Amino acid sequence: MQIKIEKTKNPKQKPDQSNLGFGKYFTDHMFIVDYAEGKGWHDARIIPYQPLSLDPATSVFHYGQAIFEGMKAYLSAEGKILLFRPRKNMERINSSDDRMSMPLIDVDFGVEAIKTLVKLDRDWIPTADGTSLYIRPFIISTDPALGVRASNTYKFIIILSPVGAYYPQGIAPVKIYVEPEYVRAVRGGTGYAKAAGNYAGSMKAQSIAAKKGYVQVLWLDGVERKYIEEVGAMNVFFKVKGEVVTPALEGSILPGITRESVIFLLKHWGMKVSERKISIHELQEAHNKGELEEAFGTGTAAVISPIGELSWNGSRMVLNYGNTGDVAHKLYDMLTGIQFGRLKDEFGWTVKVE
Ligand SMILES: *Cc1c(COP(=O)(O)O)cnc(C)c1O
Repeated sequence: MQIKIEKTKNPKQKPDQSNLGFGKYFTDHMFIVDYAEGKGWHDARIIPYQPLSLDPATSVFHYGQAIFEGMKAYLSAEGKILLFRPRKNMERINSSDDRMSMPLIDVDFGVEAIKTLVKLDRDWIPTADGTSLYIRPFIISTDPALGVRASNTYKFIIILSPVGAYYPQGIAPVKIYVEPEYVRAVRGGTGYAKAAGNYAGSMKAQSIAAKKGYVQVLWLDGVERKYIEEVGAMNVFFKVKGEVVTPALEGSILPGITRESVIFLLKHWGMKVSERKISIHELQEAHNKGELEEAFGTGTAAVISPIGELSWNGSRMVLNYGNTGDVAHKLYDMLTGIQFGRLKDEFGWTVKVE
């Protein structure tokens, strides 16, 4: 499919690179392609960044068929633009699409659309250390009619946002609150999809945790409220007596691309890794015996987020004296090294935007 390009006549002023934050500024252009039942995806175009005009009855506002992805474009020291495993994001968008009864997108076409947009707005990729261009592809249902059923029309849109370094002062641990009451997802539900509704349902627990002074919530399973699931928008890993463990993918957690890359690297380094059920009681016991050596989250935004403290049921487990563990540090250096093109990519993970 051909992508038509309409360039902006009023380029925006670029934001101050020392104060980008996350998701506050958007580039000059956006990508859109429409879908209609019987016609398929059509009319792919890049246009000046602008608001959408939608009928108040539009399906997505009422029944929430909305999914998204999150990835980054990195600028290397030699000025090359690199994407990290972009096909994985497009494969996952299709898995989310399928779960939400939304139409699939050709993986290569999706990657091509991302590359074309990033290339056009390449001057927006920030150059300061650790900064990058966040890429947000998303799909919404657009039938302008009420009635609970899958929409017949959709829009797949990509927007870009220059973002600051996640750790301006260097990688640092966070405090996490283990949520005792609310749950995020159940097996058979939509937890494995990057579906907008999953995040709407998680905000109440998030704000309770924030009031108590914790940055993120660690979710327990929706049935027994006992097994570890994941953290906010991150998967989670623990190092217990030398072995790295992470919850297995059983349908309720998001299959993170960072998670997959971390498991691969740990095995590549010859470490013992297992994907299995981990109960909060097992962690508490390991902590009491001094065997819970490290914990960290994994996701595109932070890459690796060391956990310095877990609060569960009134007790506080301080991990690794509240410092970043060795495994977390090594993973962070390796992954960010590959992403920014500082280290040789021996696994073929990075894709150049020509
Ligand atoms: C996006 C996301 C992750 C991390 O996925 P990555 O592909 O590693 O960025 C983990 N959990 C949830 C709930 C997410 O939304």
